[in-house]
Amino acid sequence: MNKVRLPIQVLKGVGEGTAQQLADTGIHTVADLFEYLPYRYEDYRLKELTEVAHEERVTVEGKVHSEPSLMYYGRKKNRLTIRLLVGRYLIQAIFFNQPYLKKKISIGDTVTISGKWDKHRQIVTVQSYTLGPHNTQKDFEPVYSLKGSISSSTIRKLLEQAFLKHSELIEENLPDHLLKQYRLLDKRSTLEKLHFPSSPDDMKQARRRFVYEEFLHFQLKMQGLRKFERENSYGISQQYHVEKVKELIGLLPFSLTDAQRRVVNEILTDLKSPYRMNRLLQGDVGSGKTIVAAIVLYASVTAGFQGALMVPTEILAEQHAESLMKILQPVGLNVALLTSSVKGKRRKLLLEKLEEGEVDILIGTHALIQDEVSFKHLGLVITDEQHRFGVGQRRILREKGENTDVLFMTATPIPRTLAITVFGEMDVSVIDEMPAGRKRIETYWAKQEMLERVLKFMEKELSNGRQAYVICPLIEESEKLDVQNAIDVHSQLSLYFEGRQQVGLMHGRLSAEEKDHVMQEFSDNHLQILVSTTVVEVGVNVPNATMMVIYDAERFGLSQLHQLRGRVGRGEHQSYCILLADPKTEVGKERMQIMTETTDGFVLSEKDLELRGPGDFFGKKQSGLPEFKVADMVHDYRTLEVARDDAKKLIQSVEFWENDEYSALRRYLQESGVMEGEKLD
Ligand code: ADP
Ligand code: MG
Repeated sequence: MNKVRLPIQVLKGVGEGTAQQLADTGIHTVADLFEYLPYRYEDYRLKELTEVAHEERVTVEGKVHSEPSLMYYGRKKNRLTIRLLVGRYLIQAIFFNQPYLKKKISIGDTVTISGKWDKHRQIVTVQSYTLGPHNTQKDFEPVYSLKGSISSSTIRKLLEQAFLKHSELIEENLPDHLLKQYRLLDKRSTLEKLHFPSSPDDMKQARRRFVYEEFLHFQLKMQGLRKFERENSYGISQQYHVEKVKELIGLLPFSLTDAQRRVVNEILTDLKSPYRMNRLLQGDVGSGKTIVAAIVLYASVTAGFQGALMVPTEILAEQHAESLMKILQPVGLNVALLTSSVKGKRRKLLLEKLEEGEVDILIGTHALIQDEVSFKHLGLVITDEQHRFGVGQRRILREKGENTDVLFMTATPIPRTLAITVFGEMDVSVIDEMPAGRKRIETYWAKQEMLERVLKFMEKELSNGRQAYVICPLIEESEKLDVQNAIDVHSQLSLYFEGRQQVGLMHGRLSAEEKDHVMQEFSDNHLQILVSTTVVEVGVNVPNATMMVIYDAERFGLSQLHQLRGRVGRGEHQSYCILLADPKTEVGKERMQIMTETTDGFVLSEKDLELRGPGDFFGKKQSGLPEFKVADMVHDYRTLEVARDDAKKLIQSVEFWENDEYSALRRYLQESGVMEGEKLD
């Protein structure tokens, strides 16, 4: 029999029932049991009573000072009390329903008890005890997350047995040189110390090794995937015309920021390389991604290819088409827009031109790379504002084009600490600098009771000819309620501004066409106020809108607030963002405060991560975040970086694919399906 598959039933005490419950928890084999780690530890270290708060759990060792007194009450219930001298303190220890202890404990004995400390009455209600002095071997008791009636102590007993009889099943899976280099514990000691720690240092060392192992595994998958994609997808080496590209940059009405220059170079290097580009371009709202896109699309055209720019909505497609035409028509490019309103004959003609290679750059929604649309020679696809981060989703897109290079652009700043995990298999470029001379959006935090004043302020802005967005309360997970809220606020504002300003309404229940229509009305200044749910978040550009009012702002994440705020401050006028919020918690107040203090998306995203944790950062549904048993991708970030560098080196080395010491890691990769190009999740 394959030893690794040794079923859990070989352990004494595991009958059918227990086996089933263990299986429900995910433990089928003895090896599974070894790898089933505690999710926390009960701390049984001795403490000074003076340092323990009322009602906290405490472990103390003491000398018995009085004969135990046993008292019965109710039916079969009883209470045993002893006086115990702990250091200089005489306290009482109370044991419930353990009458047999009366015979086992006598004056002068040393006992160790754990339980809840009643500071005022100087009583410990005992939850567990040892007759005798404290055993530091039991300072930390692991607690497991389990299903059914299995207890942590059952698991501990099974583990004791397993370590005694089957520890040869634990295979070292890290190569020797890495263990030596980082002075990591071997696998067996690691597991033993995680299950039966005897000191904080034990736990720390075991944890350190396990974190590294988890990260190395994860990074091997990422780097393996990258290698696989490189070797299995022939890219195009695009020989673009450097001088022409420089000429275009010279024609721009401004000079590029250093950050823009840097990322343009990074992307151009990818274009030229024989590999397929798989790059993410991150840049805050307004950092100038569109120009970068225009430049590299142009480069691709000078190399003899066509380019495509995909955006999530038709209105964005129109806006992008307009700015790209402005930049690229002067250098003789044919830029075309394909939306659902391009119909009939015009559509047919456009598609023909595209196929004949007469259109250089096509802009539209995701429909661009589907069905009827065929290019003569598509070289570069850029997608803007892609908010979904799953590895799987990125792959689908890459598989649609053939050998085309793909660039993803996003305005959602991802904290450095998450980017390495979430975009592990991609190259990442960051525009971390704003064009000079930007006006800062002034941000205020106001209590809901100040709404009246806020509306007066809005009235003033509007009477100066400006426009305003009003974003409505977000009610968790309920689109229906969100819509209702937007409708309510819309009617309130319509009443308030009746006869003076036009108020529009937008929410997720509208069809794409209706949304586009409302947006167009606002863009044309036929509406002065736009009441909306968060659907307005994605990169819309109405430079005349200078005011953003966000109701119940404490319900939004910092990154989302930042995205919303980015809808204003796009024109020549001073812009304002007003957060209406009555946060109840300190964290909530801190979040509003920081919004008023910084407009740097990366600072906010780091803060957001710190305050909300990685799980909540992207929202649960589409997080695409890997799960680790022990490692924490934020706090163990340094290790993650180290593991990534190691994984890179390993994957690229000949030894990794041949030598025995890597066989466990290779097997891991094979089992995870990466090398066949299967799904990662
Ligand atoms: P993003 O797409 O990153 O939000 P855009 O590309 O739309 O930002 O740029 C925002 C505005 O800044 C545009 O009006 C653009 O013309 C302008 N801009 C871009 N780069 C620069 C620069 N280097 N100097 C001055 N203005 C710039
Ligand atoms: Mg943009």
